[in-house]
Amino acid sequence: MRGLTYLSKALHSHSSYSKLLVLCSVSTGGLLVYAESNVESGKQVVEKNQPESKKKKVVVLGTGWGGTSFLKDLDISSYDVQVVSPRNYFAFTPLLPSVTCGTVEARSIVEPVRNIIKKRSGEIQFWEAECLKIDPENREVFCRSGIRDNLAGHNDFSLQYDYLVIAVGAQANTFNTPGVMEHCHFLKEVEDAQRIRRTVIDCFEKAVIPGLSEEERRTNLHFVIVGGGPTGVEFAAELHDFVHEDLVKIYPSVKDFVKVTVIQSGDHILNTFDERISSFAEQKFQRDGIEVLTGCRVISVSDHFINVKVKSTGEHVEVPYGMVVWSTGIGTRPFVKDFMRQVGQENRRILATDEWLRVKGCGNVYAIGDCASVDQRKVMEDISSIFKAADKDDSGTLSIEEFRDVVEDIIIRYPQVDLYLKNKHLLEVKDLFRDSEGNVRKEVDIEDFKLALSQVDSQMKSLPATAQVASQQGAYLARCLNRWDQCKSNPEGPRRFKSSGRHEFLPFGYRHLGQFAPLGGDQAAAELPGDWVSMGHSTQWLWYSVYASKQVSWRTRYLVVGDWVRRYIFGRDSSRI
Ligand code: FAD
Ligand code: MG
Repeated sequence: MRGLTYLSKALHSHSSYSKLLVLCSVSTGGLLVYAESNVESGKQVVEKNQPESKKKKVVVLGTGWGGTSFLKDLDISSYDVQVVSPRNYFAFTPLLPSVTCGTVEARSIVEPVRNIIKKRSGEIQFWEAECLKIDPENREVFCRSGIRDNLAGHNDFSLQYDYLVIAVGAQANTFNTPGVMEHCHFLKEVEDAQRIRRTVIDCFEKAVIPGLSEEERRTNLHFVIVGGGPTGVEFAAELHDFVHEDLVKIYPSVKDFVKVTVIQSGDHILNTFDERISSFAEQKFQRDGIEVLTGCRVISVSDHFINVKVKSTGEHVEVPYGMVVWSTGIGTRPFVKDFMRQVGQENRRILATDEWLRVKGCGNVYAIGDCASVDQRKVMEDISSIFKAADKDDSGTLSIEEFRDVVEDIIIRYPQVDLYLKNKHLLEVKDLFRDSEGNVRKEVDIEDFKLALSQVDSQMKSLPATAQVASQQGAYLARCLNRWDQCKSNPEGPRRFKSSGRHEFLPFGYRHLGQFAPLGGDQAAAELPGDWVSMGHSTQWLWYSVYASKQVSWRTRYLVVGDWVRRYIFGRDSSRI
């Protein structure tokens, strides 16, 4: 015991050094050895008494995937950093569906922001508050603390910034469907997952109360998920496992009345995934008895019924339910909408940034993650400038050599060109110079050049609203700010086609690492880079290892793996806490 106390003290007091921990995991009976190293040990840390005015002020809104990844990589010796978020923790959202059924505990998937700050030698200031308004003209954000009770002091304050990073994510989108706000659950935040977990148990406890009719028991145990995207499907699978692996054993009298239904407006569930995955998921759900209603739109939700319109027949059906989870997509937060109005983006659905993640129409403000989308510039918008810049000898025609000189910059500035070349199997630059008969031309004029590149912009795709995108954007932005002075004097970006010189930074480039869809019964589907699809039990093990390795700290990694092991041994806990 004394040894353990000593070990614990040593680990805490030497947090700046690499730690070697040997943990005997009693539950697994195995030995887990790991090293936790302080990511910042090699970085310079500014002296506390350095005059603050020298450093530029960076204000970060949000402590989700985007904000946290930015904070982890930013060189804080060059900036005075303040973070505002109503949540004083980071949540590992891909495991939220597991929290709804107690497969993983809520505290296992969160990391306190103050732990992250501690690792940065406490040089970052954090304010637990919500940003209510951005004033881009005066470079100021207005915030309000949500901490009430009878504590002394004000709740409102404002912060000045030199650079603002908006990483506030998105909110659930109800598409203004009546009754959704009042009667449905969402699955966006940790609190949502905890509420769902309690409600599932409520539904079972209510269904077994004496004197209820069979119809009433069936209604109470009808779980409906609106939205057949990855979150809806994963929750349906988790719930099915929870019911069939744990709850039917403790509520045997009502086990035959349980039903899980997924309502999807499209023709298939998981329609952003490869077709093979979507049909595998549909077949698996059919075998498991999860009903999938495709081609159905929810018109309204009342306290006991969901009003559904069957698209093919126009017929309206009333579906009785015990619990509804609404998971149909995301929308912009109101204060971001207000900011969009101020910067001339009122007609857009989502805040637009350029390829360097700078908010369009506003200097010194960046937006990353789900709250924004990158507006990739079209080649055809700049085609004349590209042609002019490439035509070095001003001959009015472009030779293959002239084009070769600029093609690398074009591909960096307009990544859709590279995608087009790959998709069309055009291996060499000269392939773009072929005429309709397939002969390579020595030179092309502006009209031929336009024709050769006319299909390129059709390859543009907007980035998905995922943790992968948000965290890569956070890391990218931190890297840009870290290299600010260096890149101002020695630009690393592609050449500018509409003016002279080069862009200071390379534009943001997204690297897709694949995506998973857990389908329950220890089976999952995965879409991996290189058009590789994998499905079944082995993919579930891949899922376990990827999500264990992606945890943001060793502490949460240990907790999550421990929860999985606990679930295997003891099942899920059905207490309604
Ligand atoms: P978030 O991570 O949502 O963070 C937003 C932050 O802003 C939060 O800290 C919030 O408290 C804060 N904030 C909100 N309002 C304000 C305000 N007014 N002022 C200041 N701060 C504010 N993606 C994947 O890649 N893989 C998955 O498997 C996956 N599974 C998912 C499962 C579920 C159930 C959900 C909901 C999402 C899942 N995602 C997944 C998507 C992923 O979670 C999001 O794309 C990601 O969280 C976006 O990161 P973000 O930083 O933009 O926003
Ligand atoms: Mg020329």
